[in-house]
Amino acid sequence: MSVARVAVPIAARQSFDYWVPDGLPVLRGSVVRVGVGARTLVGVVVEMPRESEVDPTRLRPIVELVGDVAPVPEDVLRLATFAADYYGQPLGSILACAAPPVGAASRRSGVRGVTKPARAPAASAGASSAGASAASTGASSTESPAAPHPGWHDPGARVGGALNSEQQRAAHAVTETLGRFETFLLHGVTGSGKTETYLAAAAEAVARGGQVLLLVPEINLTPQLAARVAAAFGGTPVGVLHSRLAAGARRTTWRDAAEGRARIVLGTRLAVFAPLPWLGLIVVDEEHDDSYRQEEGVRYHARDLAIVRARERGVPVVLASATPSLESFHRAEVGAYRLLCLGARAVPGARPPSVRFVTNRGLAAGAVVAAPVLEAIGERLGRAEQSLVFVNRRGFSPSLLCHACGWAACCPHCTARLVLHRESRELRCHHCGFARRVAPACPTCGNQDLTPVGAGTQRLEEQLSERFPQARIARVDRDTTTRRGAFAAVAQRVSSGEIDILVGTQMLAKGHDFPRLTLVAVLGADNALYSADFRATERLFAQLVQVGGRAGRARLAGEVLIQTDFAEHPLFQALCAQDYQSFARTLLAERRAADLPPYSHLALLEAQGRSREDVERFLADAWRLAREAIAALGGRCECFPPSTPSLARRAGLERGHLLVQSASRRDLHALLRAWRPELEAQGARRVRWRVDVDPADLG
Ligand code: ADP
Ligand code: ZN
Ligand code: ZN
Repeated sequence: MSVARVAVPIAARQSFDYWVPDGLPVLRGSVVRVGVGARTLVGVVVEMPRESEVDPTRLRPIVELVGDVAPVPEDVLRLATFAADYYGQPLGSILACAAPPVGAASRRSGVRGVTKPARAPAASAGASSAGASAASTGASSTESPAAPHPGWHDPGARVGGALNSEQQRAAHAVTETLGRFETFLLHGVTGSGKTETYLAAAAEAVARGGQVLLLVPEINLTPQLAARVAAAFGGTPVGVLHSRLAAGARRTTWRDAAEGRARIVLGTRLAVFAPLPWLGLIVVDEEHDDSYRQEEGVRYHARDLAIVRARERGVPVVLASATPSLESFHRAEVGAYRLLCLGARAVPGARPPSVRFVTNRGLAAGAVVAAPVLEAIGERLGRAEQSLVFVNRRGFSPSLLCHACGWAACCPHCTARLVLHRESRELRCHHCGFARRVAPACPTCGNQDLTPVGAGTQRLEEQLSERFPQARIARVDRDTTTRRGAFAAVAQRVSSGEIDILVGTQMLAKGHDFPRLTLVAVLGADNALYSADFRATERLFAQLVQVGGRAGRARLAGEVLIQTDFAEHPLFQALCAQDYQSFARTLLAERRAADLPPYSHLALLEAQGRSREDVERFLADAWRLAREAIAALGGRCECFPPSTPSLARRAGLERGHLLVQSASRRDLHALLRAWRPELEAQGARRVRWRVDVDPADLG
């Protein structure tokens, strides 16, 4: 009797053994349905052990081999195993991301045969430098699909002219390394031609018979980009993968990638697990973008996994950004990554936008937009040009105060203020979703004159429409774009000149080019300058470069106005000078002094429970266990005392943190491996916890 060890997506860290019914062609990587308790779950076979430790009479059979999806290839299994270990996640849950979504269960219970011979995964996905040689042999044996199907984009005519010499050098540096592992950091201002450059390298990889994995942030995966990529490859099929794609379409792209028909796979973070037997090159566009971090459910960082995968497969990986993450820039500075720089904007005559500062001082009470910004918008209206006003907060105002007694509207479930949404006459919590109607008077003192303090997108929209009643204004934030396609519809109206002023949050920062957009005004950026979050300034700089890049993309000159009380801040000065690198070095010096990443590696134990006492007791024990584990490992890691984040309570749960740190990734992981089982053994039933490896922030 043969036995299969199956990883299923449940919180348990171990896999379960099942017996394989006779004749069922189950292999390592097969996607199967198995019974777990009373449920039937989809899992992945991770091992075919010679025998089980479980008494054979107690083994349950595999319910079904899922026939409509290809098995998970060997290198993806290894990547998933790495990720499970590195991020401390159940392998089954990681594999649930790594396997395609499966169809409904076969109606017939029992065994179902595989209708079409599945490619033996171990043979096809040479998880090594064999990737390159497999590419040349594989190329001739695959053909284009007869008809396009959902998830595919029809390639148009090839666009993109000749590369300039700087771009050529960069593309050449990459194509020279095809067939071996190397990490490139492609850095250049927005519009310098990074996309054009990596597409040229990708075209070469495809021409040599390889497949290309192109990862983009969620919000950048626009039909325009898909069309541009398809066009750049002149007829080569592009498979598109993202979480909003219907399961059937995703399954199809998955199969096309596995069988080599999709030569380019363009996708968001989950595509890092796509099966690519002839993988030749990986590109991570906007590598600094936070959406590569999977935070819900299983946690992983797709950019970091892309690098791991490239090394495993022996292929080059290109990280592209106008504002690289400090981690990546640091790796380039120390020579671990090769830095490729594009200096100028690529379109002849296109100039970077000029940056000007406008003070907040002298604003009338309740007014949020300074006079020079209003003037600049007025000028654009006069010239039939467009303006973008950016504030990183939705709603009307982030707080509602009573000046008579000092009361502020707060969430009953979180340590947070409620945000005023005037359109719906509601106060809403942006952390837990709690909402209630705005009361006409202060609940403490009865004062009827409550003051909204601070500006959100709704307030901005209101003030702009009062000032420019004739202007056509559109607001873009999470509240206005919940409907599918709403964002694309606004973008379309901006493109066709039906909108004069666009008001919105960072959703607007990327993706689209609007040729008549010549003014970008930024409000409320100062909050991030003095934030407790250690990545706040890095993020703000990236965001401002991004939004600034929206201004003056075509022939018209662009202007960026920043309304701030801190125009002298080094961040704004660097923005003015278009000098990412010296600003990055300043930030790196600060990180070094504070012993923060990339100079140290962090893991954050996050705990939450109904009672503060339970959380504190759990963390006190965790702290002691960590110190014991560190001592047993001979030091080299540090563990800070438990702390309470500023959002001390969220959705009714008390929160507490414990930070562990080490100068060496390896030492930190040795500690985590020793510490986690101890934490699990605590059996603190009233406290939920998790360890966040490489946390985005410490809040
Ligand atoms: P990035 O990715 O750095 O923002 P893109 O690759 O999107 O830059 O290029 C910006 C614009 O410049 C695009 O419209 C692109 O077609 C154009 N472009 C890029 N390289 C060249 C070139 N060598 N000659 C002419 N136009 C170019
Ligand atoms: Zn009051
Ligand atoms: Zn709340």
